[in-house]
Amino acid sequence: MTSQVFYRKWRPHTLAEVVGQEHVTRTLRNALALGRVSHAYLFCGPRGTGKTSTGRILAKAVNCLSPAQGGPCNVCSSCQAVNEGRALDVIEIDAASNRGIDEIRDLREKVNYAPNLARYKVYIIDEVHMLTEPASNALLKTLEEPPPHAIFVLATTEPHKVLPTIVSRCQRFDFHRLSQSAIIDKLSFICPKENIDIEPEALRLIARATAGSLRDAENLLEQLAAYYGHEIKLAQAQTMLGINSDLRIAELARHIVSRDIPAGLQTINNVSEDGLDLRQFNRGLVDYLRCLLLVKSGSGEVVDVTSNELEEMKRLVVNTTLDHLLKAIKLFGAIDLRLDNYSPLPLELALVECVLPSAEKQPPLSAQFAEVTKAASLPVEAESPRPPEAEVKQDIDYFRKHWKEFIQSLRGEGSRGNLDALLRSACEPIAVEGDTLILGFYYRFHKEKIEDPKYQHLVKRKLGEVFGQPYQLRCVLISRDKKASSQTELENPLVRAALEMGAKIVNEES
Ligand SMILES: [Zn+2]
Repeated sequence: MTSQVFYRKWRPHTLAEVVGQEHVTRTLRNALALGRVSHAYLFCGPRGTGKTSTGRILAKAVNCLSPAQGGPCNVCSSCQAVNEGRALDVIEIDAASNRGIDEIRDLREKVNYAPNLARYKVYIIDEVHMLTEPASNALLKTLEEPPPHAIFVLATTEPHKVLPTIVSRCQRFDFHRLSQSAIIDKLSFICPKENIDIEPEALRLIARATAGSLRDAENLLEQLAAYYGHEIKLAQAQTMLGINSDLRIAELARHIVSRDIPAGLQTINNVSEDGLDLRQFNRGLVDYLRCLLLVKSGSGEVVDVTSNELEEMKRLVVNTTLDHLLKAIKLFGAIDLRLDNYSPLPLELALVECVLPSAEKQPPLSAQFAEVTKAASLPVEAESPRPPEAEVKQDIDYFRKHWKEFIQSLRGEGSRGNLDALLRSACEPIAVEGDTLILGFYYRFHKEKIEDPKYQHLVKRKLGEVFGQPYQLRCVLISRDKKASSQTELENPLVRAALEMGAKIVNEES
């Protein structure tokens, strides 16, 4: 159990300090300023989003001796009593702890007595959906005839479990899950005051891992500080959250085997957002895939893993082929040479490429393209008037001949510096029409990446530099000629590398 010191210490004391619930606090502030406070509120929303804190602020506001614009002053004796948890007229009931039977009975007995010191008795009932049926009914009776000096704040994470007759007697507010940036802002506010020096990536990880609950985020920060002292690193946050490369590697391998692109992309995204080292992750993945390859080819005994892991691998390879594993090893193995440490893009591309089925036999690319343009289904996207048609000396063969050079010129370009990696395996030049170069992409995923204006602009600029005149760019989808691609696969040194790593091809499936 966490101590929740930070959570208590840094809980908001005014409506303005409640993070991320402006739609609630604005309405409440207006009601308080106008003196139009309801007798019953229902605060709904996920845990740790400020429901009971807002209830307490409301309790202070209605009883404050010198309220400012409806809000509590936090200075008067009444406000201080609430802040210190000793206000007799603010009664908090946790319905989750013993389902509220005794508390609601007590409430029924005492609610009609006038407040001890304050103007209002405020009952804050947390997790109200947990009340037993008799307790719920008893509460309902009170809400049907509330004494003028009583205000009820009911809080719940599961409003659909609250009696509809109770809900209908309350003014309802829905609290939202906090955005990551709202949580980061609040933690960034707390850290210097607690003398905590934390890496920004660690803060981001905490915000992401706690899924919009500020209380969870504050508790996690407190645990980290208690355990690691006042300098907190990303790796420590990862350890505390149980984030570890090995589990994610096995997870991605499962998605590769089951050819599940969305799940695989999600895993890669999580790996990246959790701040794991992508280069290391990829190395681990290639190694894991190699083990699968060995297991699949019947050499499981040489794989150095625990017996549980070996069993898992055996189960996994039942649903795949040697070909598929080999393809995955080649693609992810190739990444390692060009991966920069921050971009998940090369991993995403490799995943998509290795999961999508290889193209069947197709007519030559140029013929395909002629078909497509004949159908006139592709609008030419040249808004600006073309430059006076200079004689185009550069035909498609010229582009094909110099394509490698062009790709190399993109090294280091793009926000991640890996534009060359993207273009190398994703497309080829297939035609030139006037001043427009047509690039054929094998997969929609890659095509859409390059159609993104920020990449498009860079590619066009480089085309101008390398080929000596400005070119427009058009991206189309094509199928890869299988014969040509398997030829290049054979030439690929990584295939040989995979075999040298110990892979044995028992049977080549196609
Ligand atoms: Zn006050």
